[in-house]
Amino acid sequence: MLAVVFDSELQVRIDYPEPRPSRSDALVAVRVAGVCSTDLEVMKGYMGFTGVMGHEFVGRVVSGPEKWRDQRVVGEINCVCGRCDMCTGGLANHCRDRTVLGIDGHDGVFAEYVALPVRNLHAVPDTVGDEQAVLVEPLAAAFQIVRQLDFSRSDSVVVLGDGRLGQLVARVLKTVVRRPVLVGRHEDKLEAAEKAGIQTVAEGEFSPRADADVVVDATGSAEGLETAMRAVRPRGVIVLKSTVAAGKELNLAPLVINEVTVVGSRCGPFPDAIQALADGIVDVSALVTGRFPLRDAPEALAAAARPEHIKVLIDVA
Ligand SMILES: [Zn+2]
Ligand SMILES: [Zn+2]
Repeated sequence: MLAVVFDSELQVRIDYPEPRPSRSDALVAVRVAGVCSTDLEVMKGYMGFTGVMGHEFVGRVVSGPEKWRDQRVVGEINCVCGRCDMCTGGLANHCRDRTVLGIDGHDGVFAEYVALPVRNLHAVPDTVGDEQAVLVEPLAAAFQIVRQLDFSRSDSVVVLGDGRLGQLVARVLKTVVRRPVLVGRHEDKLEAAEKAGIQTVAEGEFSPRADADVVVDATGSAEGLETAMRAVRPRGVIVLKSTVAAGKELNLAPLVINEVTVVGSRCGPFPDAIQALADGIVDVSALVTGRFPLRDAPEALAAAARPEHIKVLIDVA
């Protein structure tokens, strides 16, 4: 099959073997895949991953248990053991023996077919199109913040970073707080957020005043946490949404002095994301800025790394 493989370099292979699903797997024909910042990190050596890249997708089940056959689906990315203390304790996303689709030990979705445990699948309603459904995984990651924090007494909420994830986080937070503010450095990206009714501030005009109840860092940079520490109020909360690259020294004393709660946040609830798209309460229409066929995936990945793009999609079928 056609597949985009990373093995110390990016390769478009036409002869990659089709996945062989186990008894608990479904075989899914991928329709559309999404490029995420994590894919760009994988190409820099993140997790030492080799194999088929990609983890955001919508597809159709071609083989597996009867009830799933021919269903249009999205899929959770953590493939878990079901037996460890995390799994049995209800924290399966933190399974100690997990593989992660297209990121760690499990072939991903930049390919014609992917095998995924049936327990990972979620059916997509007909009213949610492929170009929306492909955003379910990152949108679920944004909804995770709402699961982790109670926003009922948060008036001032700031999202740092106008990229792929920051955009989704701001849209989701707009469903629970009146006026989340998105801070970014790209005029066109801030405009896309404004179109979805989100208040924005250009980074150059943002002056952190230690008055925000919650600050979400989705900048993907160490500077993001520094800015967050200056923007959050004493006893406020900082949510870390991007894995910050190592290599920068940070002074964490402000967290102690101001008694700040720091919350790490990763994968989230698919049902919440699917429901939000079906109900139209999260507007994702302006986010897709590029589409490429699977064989041009290297161009798609290069485009996703350029600042003018928000979400880049790969059309597989
Ligand atoms: Zn991702
Ligand atoms: Zn486990």
